[in-house]
Amino acid sequence: MSSNSYQAGRHFLQIPGPTNVPDRILRAMDHPTIDHRGPAFAEIGKTCLDGMKTVFKTDSAVIIYPASGTGAWEAALVNLINAGERVLMVETGHFATLWKTMADRLGIETEFLETDWRRGVDPQAIEDRLRADSEGQIRAVCVVHNETSTGSTSRIGEVRAAIDAAGHGALLMVDTISSLASIDYQHDEWGVDVTVSGSQKGLMLPPGLSFNAISERAISESKSNGQQRSYWDWQEQLAANKGGAFPYTPATNLLYGLAEAIDMLHEEGLDNVFSRHDRHAEATRRAVQAWGLEVLCQEPRDYSSSLTAVMLPEGHDADAFRAKVLANFDMSLGNGLSRLAGRVFRIGHLGDFNDLMLTGTLSGVEMGLRVADIPHQSGGVQAAIQFLSESATAA
Ligand SMILES: *Cc1c(COP(=O)(O)O)cnc(C)c1O
Repeated sequence: MSSNSYQAGRHFLQIPGPTNVPDRILRAMDHPTIDHRGPAFAEIGKTCLDGMKTVFKTDSAVIIYPASGTGAWEAALVNLINAGERVLMVETGHFATLWKTMADRLGIETEFLETDWRRGVDPQAIEDRLRADSEGQIRAVCVVHNETSTGSTSRIGEVRAAIDAAGHGALLMVDTISSLASIDYQHDEWGVDVTVSGSQKGLMLPPGLSFNAISERAISESKSNGQQRSYWDWQEQLAANKGGAFPYTPATNLLYGLAEAIDMLHEEGLDNVFSRHDRHAEATRRAVQAWGLEVLCQEPRDYSSSLTAVMLPEGHDADAFRAKVLANFDMSLGNGLSRLAGRVFRIGHLGDFNDLMLTGTLSGVEMGLRVADIPHQSGGVQAAIQFLSESATAA
């Protein structure tokens, strides 16, 4: 650490991932690493694999990689899509663009439906494009459920309905890295073929694990399709996973943490987890509105419950503002990515998070707006407090 003085109290990590890791998960990981080929390991392996099915809401299969989310993106593509085959993607923001760039590098033909980075996917645009693909050249539709660069969430059930309405056989692949365990997601119900996720956002773990939830169709087609692959190959994983094992060394201690995270999510109840996130997102937007600032997402149906991206008035630098918040109040806020650099800051309100952490976060933002001399009205924190107290439901 290069900081030259002790910072009292807890750092506020309010970027939209990695998120705050709860003490229960830290304690759960604080154990000796065991033999991943010994008898004790199979139980933890099984617990995690089965538990993640309940989080993805699938009866099919889940694969766990010792990798960041980007690795699970690659796994989804190389197990199903050959070089030269075509996929349809939607430019919802920076993360959708990175996934497209990866597909381009793998030699996949990509088609990118544009947006203005201020909303989620338009299911009608997908339906229209698929209807025009009478020769069935589009092998998969790939979308980001929660676009972390903009704070816009796409309606995946409607994307599935659009593919069906077009009578098209494309596979559906969805990135849920910043939505899983924060925003409702239903792999089976929505007919998703591959769901990609990661450990360090809604799942409340440190970075280092990522996931593919895969449909029966995806498993079956991957046997004869996809690119040359080794590390990411599903078949070897599925074979080893039957006995709770992995084909190469798993991230054992992160799996201890994952088992604890799954328990915590079910103790709270997934529906309660989702409504907690919805409520914190609403309180945050009320604060932004009271400050007289603008939420980046312009489509209310697509507002994200994981994070809120806030635009600063023209001529004010969001990174200079974030630096002041960090220096004065020891809070990290998310930066604007690529074309949004310097224009927006992002408030993460996902993971292990409660009302007082949110009001502390919003206080830090409001004080930061003053310190950085950014034109705004006061009263944002007050608006959030009013909403949170009016919507407090405990007896
Ligand atoms: C964080 C994030 C990623 C990147 O995941 P890494 O773990 O950094 O590889 C991809 N997509 C979305 C939507 C994300 O939020």
